[in-house]
Amino acid sequence: MTKADLIEEVSRVVEMTRKESEVIVEAIFDSIVRSLRSGDKIEIRGFGSFRTRQRQPRIGRNPKTGARVEVPAKKIPYFKPSKELKDVVKQLRRARTRAPLWHRFRPSRFRTRNVDYLWTPWRYQYVTKGDTPSVCVFCTAAGSSDDQKTLIVHRAKHNFIILNRFPYTNGHVMVVPYQHVATLEELAEEALLEMMRLARSAKNTSARDLPSGWR
Ligand SMILES: [Zn+2]
Repeated sequence: MTKADLIEEVSRVVEMTRKESEVIVEAIFDSIVRSLRSGDKIEIRGFGSFRTRQRQPRIGRNPKTGARVEVPAKKIPYFKPSKELKDVVKQLRRARTRAPLWHRFRPSRFRTRNVDYLWTPWRYQYVTKGDTPSVCVFCTAAGSSDDQKTLIVHRAKHNFIILNRFPYTNGHVMVVPYQHVATLEELAEEALLEMMRLARSAKNTSARDLPSGWR
């Protein structure tokens, strides 16, 4: 993420112009730098703190000649993440290694290759503000009669195909069994076979083949 991304995100969330949000973002960084310069500590609750550390003068060696050199005392800035920030990062890592069943069947055609990381700002609101529903979102969607509203694009006998409302990439669909289970082992044999067949056909279906209402 770069400063430009931050500015973009601020202007999107607060509905300001790029110019205005640039002023805000710059002001924040300027105050952090100014405070650090005057030796102040900046504490941002839930995020972390910036402060300076005094490094003592020491005798070093010139790597080329081996001669002794005096390294004067200096102030160095450092960032200490808050416990909350560390916990959030830890949880994200755990979530990634234990991806839910329906994420493992993302059609490979849409998978982005060779990217450093996927920047999905449209998921931000959902990830940070979304409530945890008390009922299963997939069972609720499957039980609803309004497929257009729930984003179900196809219903088969044992599984249905649903669009991800907060996709990682364009055209992210999920093949979900009607049977509410957490692992592949628990899934009935014929449902498993149908799931793989649907994943294969979803892979061969491009976004332009979706019903007109979905475009
Ligand atoms: Zn369910």
